[in-house]
Amino acid sequence: MFTLETAATAAYVVAALLFILALAGLSKHETSRAGNTFGMAGMVVALVATIALALARHIEPLGLGLLIAAMAIGAAIGLWRARVVEMTGMPELIALLHSFVGLAAVLVGWNGYLHVEHDLAGAEAAVLSNEGMLGIHSAEVFIGVFIGAVTFTGSIVANLKLSARIKSAPLMLPGKNFLNVGALVLFVVFTVWFVIDPQLWLLIVVTVLALLLGWHLVASIGGGDMPVVVSMLNSYSGWAAAASGFLLSNDLLIVTGALVGSSGAYLSYIMCKAMNRSFISVIAGGFGIEAGPAEDKDYGEHREITAEGAAELLSSASSVIITPGYGMAVAQAQYGVAELTRKLRERGVTVRFGIHPVAGRLPGHMNVLLAEAKVPYDIVLEMDEINDDFENTSVVLVIGANDTVNPAASEDPGSPIAGMPVLTVWNAEHVIVFKRSMASGYAGVQNPLFFRENTQMLFGDARDRVDDINAAL
Ligand code: NDP
Repeated sequence: MFTLETAATAAYVVAALLFILALAGLSKHETSRAGNTFGMAGMVVALVATIALALARHIEPLGLGLLIAAMAIGAAIGLWRARVVEMTGMPELIALLHSFVGLAAVLVGWNGYLHVEHDLAGAEAAVLSNEGMLGIHSAEVFIGVFIGAVTFTGSIVANLKLSARIKSAPLMLPGKNFLNVGALVLFVVFTVWFVIDPQLWLLIVVTVLALLLGWHLVASIGGGDMPVVVSMLNSYSGWAAAASGFLLSNDLLIVTGALVGSSGAYLSYIMCKAMNRSFISVIAGGFGIEAGPAEDKDYGEHREITAEGAAELLSSASSVIITPGYGMAVAQAQYGVAELTRKLRERGVTVRFGIHPVAGRLPGHMNVLLAEAKVPYDIVLEMDEINDDFENTSVVLVIGANDTVNPAASEDPGSPIAGMPVLTVWNAEHVIVFKRSMASGYAGVQNPLFFRENTQMLFGDARDRVDDINAAL
């Protein structure tokens, strides 16, 4: 028989399929717009179905009012933030959104406890008891609260680090690995205890423990490893949502949470491979990574070039590679860069882009900016595809990149970014570095590239300098 409840369940299946299509679409440039549309459609279907389900279950008017008010306020804030956020502010906004998912999972877990374990004489506990499911419910509450709280504080620290409100350098507490492992062991012991005897104080202790662990895990990671942390928190937020789905008996939330959780974990794994980092070490809060000695090295003098000088060098070049980084995003220089590319190509110069997997502050950050400025996809290459070609290149333009072109990563084993593969720009005939000062990049390490014989610094805002070169050309 057709009821609102069966319709809502069917709608959930449709929404889950749309989310899978969204993920598939987002995996390629060409289909990413369609992927986004599928995702939005899935979310609309899910929201409508959730309200329909609430109506079918005879939600009280007050509850319905609160539901609609929360959705309206959330939608208004979401629309406003999405409109005003700068591309450079996206990573910290995403980190903040992950923290909301974590907080929601904590609240759902606590709500589950108050309705069932705290009220063992009540109707819900009686139903679960009869089905022999009370222990499973307790485990769901405990695990959901734990993952949610770790995600909540971890994401807040990530937000603070990405927005430079706290230093990106790793926090090095004595015995940090012991603290992390100890917290996990305590969690397992307390989970078993809570399932056998669901006491309020155990839930309070695990909430505080997980809040501290989340904070410590992300605070301990620094250097160039933050990209992995962001995608790892994305994964945690998925598992937190799935845990809430079990508690709320909401299949769609379980499916969606699992999709986010597993795709985030896979992305973290791919990024770890690209950066030559151990996946386990990073998810365990920088397990095994120790702080290197403070740097105090004299690299010598750097040389400078003017925009006119750069334009001259470019006009006589046969091949040019542009390696953009976070500074291009800050300066919004991508349009000028696209124009420069067009001008050089018209003069018969081969121009290509070399994109480091963690350039900028988001996976794919540079690709999005270049696509926005209509740079053809076929000249935008990944690091692995282009790294052998620098030797035969006349000029490399390093536009606002720093850590991703740092030779110390491959030459100095004591560097905090040692072992991370980088774009080997220094092998080219000439390197021009666009930045505003001699300041270090995100990882806070000095870059010996700036002092090499074939490197010249072009100081100033990247957008202004690119415009100057375009004018001179
Ligand atoms: P970096 O962050 O290492 O360096 C960016 C450089 O841009 C700075 O040295 C800065 O120098 C310069 N810059 C800033 N603003 C401007 C401007 N307006 N005009 C010109 N230059 C400017 O960039 P990379 O892209 O090379 O490396 C990314 C780093 O971020 C890596 O360490 C990575 O691990 C980390 N990260 C990446 C994430 C990702 O997913 N991609 C996520 C989180 C972190 P100056 O101030 O002198 O101008």
